[in-house]
Amino acid sequence: MTLHDQYDPDNIFAKMLRGEVPCVKVLDDDVALAFMDIFPQAEGHTLVVPKDVEARNLLEMPAEKLGPYMERVQKVAVAVEKALKPDGLVVTQFNGAPAGQTVYHLHFHIIPRNEGESLRRHAGGDPADTETLKGLADRIAAYI
Ligand code: AMP
Repeated sequence: MTLHDQYDPDNIFAKMLRGEVPCVKVLDDDVALAFMDIFPQAEGHTLVVPKDVEARNLLEMPAEKLGPYMERVQKVAVAVEKALKPDGLVVTQFNGAPAGQTVYHLHFHIIPRNEGESLRRHAGGDPADTETLKGLADRIAAYI
């Protein structure tokens, strides 16, 4: 899949937004849905997905929706930091497969980083245990 293509309304994040696929939620309001990454690159890896847009990536996001969406990204990043107290935090997003994107609905990754810990594989490996993710989501959501 290239950087420029049609939005696929059946991508997995669109299905989550419609409630057709489960996810472990951290925040759910009129602007965004945030949930735990099922293949966390580090403990607490959270994704923030905008609602009511067909934007495959940041380039396609309507400018007027960007501000409210980024407020949610920041809100979740602050909550992850308060809940898990990592040494650092990566906030990132990928545009197009060559850049590392695997799901084509805009999303930001919030990934806690700790000194001496390397990142696990991106978008692969064994899925995390759902109960473990729920525990982390509850801790993060307590600060939202
Ligand atoms: P990207 O590669 O930037 O498009 O990121 C997509 C992210 O979605 C990856 O970090 C995946 O681990 C994550 N992911 C894929 N399927 C699911 C799922 N069902 N629930 C939660 N996260 C998912």
